[in-house]
Amino acid sequence: MKELQGKVCLVTGGARGIGRAIALAMAESGADIAFNYQQSRERAEEICRLIEGKGVRCRTFAANVTSEEEVNRMVQETSDSLGPISILVNNAGITRDRTFMKMTRQMWDEVLEVNLDGPFNVTHAVLPCMINLGWGRIINISSFVGLTGNFGQTNYAVTKGGINSFTMALAREVARKGITVNAVAPGFISTDMTKDVPASVLDQVRAMTPMGRLGNPEEVADAVTFLASPRASYITGQVLSVNGGIYM
Ligand code: NDP
Repeated sequence: MKELQGKVCLVTGGARGIGRAIALAMAESGADIAFNYQQSRERAEEICRLIEGKGVRCRTFAANVTSEEEVNRMVQETSDSLGPISILVNNAGITRDRTFMKMTRQMWDEVLEVNLDGPFNVTHAVLPCMINLGWGRIINISSFVGLTGNFGQTNYAVTKGGINSFTMALAREVARKGITVNAVAPGFISTDMTKDVPASVLDQVRAMTPMGRLGNPEEVADAVTFLASPRASYITGQVLSVNGGIYM
């Protein structure tokens, strides 16, 4: 029997990048998968077919994590069709980079809404299912930037530092209900998020990274599926770095 067989896993932003790799890895471990997308409908349909090809069920939703209404509908429909959600991966996230003095209020607000209000909305909707089950795994995708800060990313750093604190605070609240809450903090990973970073900056990143390369989404997904598994039953409130050594 596969490690996550019989579990229902919701991944936010599962059509691309790290979320896509997580959805596929969770399916590989036997979980039924629900994931949402905002824009990537075609990619979502393609991933859904790949997931179903692994012998598990999959549902996709067009849902913006900043909309409580859309999130609540997604969680309800997932529970109705697949069963109660016991694994949640808060992955959806955005950047709007600019040095602080040039950063507009809109750039600040957009990043906080997706990266902080999003996990609030989804976790709030899913937690009652986990409490009823007496078992749950919440894994938040943070960033090493939440631990170190980064030039041009005050908005993003605030959200990832906030996610780390959210992880620890919520872990304390729900530990006795059989629910663990952890974060995974990736370093630079090759996805759409990093593809527009100038080549010269990526060269600097490689130089600063002891492993000398960017990570790939599957390396993050491996850490996430481990934290969802029974092997991680005594791990909660942790921020696990998957970063090639760029911050240690
Ligand atoms: P991508 O830009 O490749 O993908 C972002 C994902 O988030 C997409 O699936 C997108 O959906 C979804 N998304 C964005 N906004 C919303 C929204 N409002 N509602 C629903 N879904 C939304 O990013 P990555 O895969 O690189 O990043 C995933 C996570 O990992 C993020 O939280 C990011 O901060 C974090 N991270 C990434 C690092 C990297 O180097 N790549 C490093 C450290 C952390 P759609 O395609 O439908 O728009």
